[in-house]
Amino acid sequence: MSRFFIGILCFCFVGQMGYAQFEKYFWEKTLRFDFYHCGDNRTESYYFDELIEEPYWAGSKVALVDTTGYGNQMFKIVDIATDEVIYSRSYCTLFNEWQTTDEAGRTHKCMPEGVIFPYPKNDVRLELYARNRQGCFEKKFEHVIDVKDCFIKKFTPRYETFEVMYNGAPTNKVDIVLLPEGYATNEKEKFRQACEGFVREFFSYSPFKEKALQFNVRAVWVPSAESGVTMPGEQVWRQTALKASFYTFGAERYQMIEDFQGVRDVAAHVPYEYIYILSNTQKYGGGGIFNFYGISAANHPTRTGKIYVHEFGHVLLGLGDEYGENAPYSDMYPEGVEPWEENLTTLTDFGRKVIWNGLLDSATPIPTPLNEKKLDKVGVYEGGGYAAKGVYRPWQNCLMNNLHKTDCFCPVCTDAIVRYVDWLCR
Ligand SMILES: [Zn+2]
Repeated sequence: MSRFFIGILCFCFVGQMGYAQFEKYFWEKTLRFDFYHCGDNRTESYYFDELIEEPYWAGSKVALVDTTGYGNQMFKIVDIATDEVIYSRSYCTLFNEWQTTDEAGRTHKCMPEGVIFPYPKNDVRLELYARNRQGCFEKKFEHVIDVKDCFIKKFTPRYETFEVMYNGAPTNKVDIVLLPEGYATNEKEKFRQACEGFVREFFSYSPFKEKALQFNVRAVWVPSAESGVTMPGEQVWRQTALKASFYTFGAERYQMIEDFQGVRDVAAHVPYEYIYILSNTQKYGGGGIFNFYGISAANHPTRTGKIYVHEFGHVLLGLGDEYGENAPYSDMYPEGVEPWEENLTTLTDFGRKVIWNGLLDSATPIPTPLNEKKLDKVGVYEGGGYAAKGVYRPWQNCLMNNLHKTDCFCPVCTDAIVRYVDWLCR
């Protein structure tokens, strides 16, 4: 029997085992747990809001428990009868970024958040974890869910949807939903063209180009009362569907949305795992947060596609920013804590970076001096994660770094994306 054949047998066996686990514990639809994430720069707490039953489940039926170690937050679904963790996912939030701003030292704040998981057949306990200053997850909140509770709200669809790119059943694909921000009622065709432009641009960059058949892309059409985007720093205010705003945390280019529950209300119209919002503007900017959402300009004259793939690198698997300038927030990667992002290190525990180490030539010095003549060499270059010192990146100019200087993801980011997509599609 060939090794290839043995490999296929093993893969099928693991697949069936996973499906059996899914069938045992879950229905093929989604349960969403909405809550408020509150606190200041020293504390964080969580307050239950509501439960919503949504019609589709687009995630894997095999990769149920998250083994990546990514993210600053994590939730677990625990079967009460057996105390077994039957589903988990890690993620990041806008609230955690806000906690690093000066404002968080002066006041308390809440942001609406929500997590989704396949609908459990039996009663479960939801547990929320946050990463502490030492880099370890600590349990912060738990809530028992009676899955037959009559107060679990049933989702009611209100908006039109359309398919942009379909390649097969959602459980074996990465399912992206595109949402419109700042498109008025008469701009539906403009949004449709922006969705087609997203697919054309996004899948022109490696490794998404080679992995295109493992993705589905759908869209929800929700018009905004007014056309355009909100820019508080320029005193431009628009009534828009998702309430996005530039100048988030005082940074002009940072266009984000605080009401994540409002975003999920629109996304739930189609089977989805990842949310990307197309903003009706030419203004450079946007943002992307791991397992949360991404947003950027749909009409940037030159760099639309690069911004899409850069932000999606954050959204899909939490790749870090490889640039070394200072952002408005500080202290994102403290000394003595190894970042969980595959493409950043503080050299505290670099051995944990399996993908990066596997691509590093043993003759390459650590740290690696910058060299304009060897731009395609994997190394350990100082400057990354918004800090010029103490944080290191794997390549001199990756797409997770400066978008002006390159058209490629570095080999570390490329390999990490490929592995993660394959994990999601099991
Ligand atoms: Zn990279």
